[in-house]
Amino acid sequence: MIISENAAVLFHYTLTDGEGNQLDSSKGKDPLAYLHGHKNIIPGLEQEMEGKQAGDVMVVTIAPADAYGERQEQMVQEVPRKTFQAEDIHVGMRFEAQTPNGPLTVVVTGVTDETVTVDGNHPLAGKELTFDVRIDNVREATEEELTHGHVHGAGGHQH
Ligand code: ZN
Repeated sequence: MIISENAAVLFHYTLTDGEGNQLDSSKGKDPLAYLHGHKNIIPGLEQEMEGKQAGDVMVVTIAPADAYGERQEQMVQEVPRKTFQAEDIHVGMRFEAQTPNGPLTVVVTGVTDETVTVDGNHPLAGKELTFDVRIDNVREATEEELTHGHVHGAGGHQH
């Protein structure tokens, strides 16, 4: 079966950034499952999957705009140290911030005695991403999966 709208797709991948650093991989795990045409995966990768089938392999490089978007500098903010409950705040810590658009995970990128700098950009924003992909299985989605907008079972949603 060819990958098209509403196909349930399982694939293995290794993700590297523009400098060749490995960011993520499904090696040794279940393949990732997604529902094609439902924005379960980044748009650039979903587009490349169209028309492929089980057994196909490909290496694709996706520009930031078709992955996690460009970095937005207004997502970086310096806030007073005293707004944080935690005693020990250090670079790399993650917090969930409440914003008008809902909860947002921010990472601490700087700390002084008076202020904490937090970055709300997605960790992969602004990065060119290369996916080394092997398509494992392609099947028709079930009615339930189509209603939910995602794939069930190993590598997908389990609920
Ligand atoms: Zn579901």
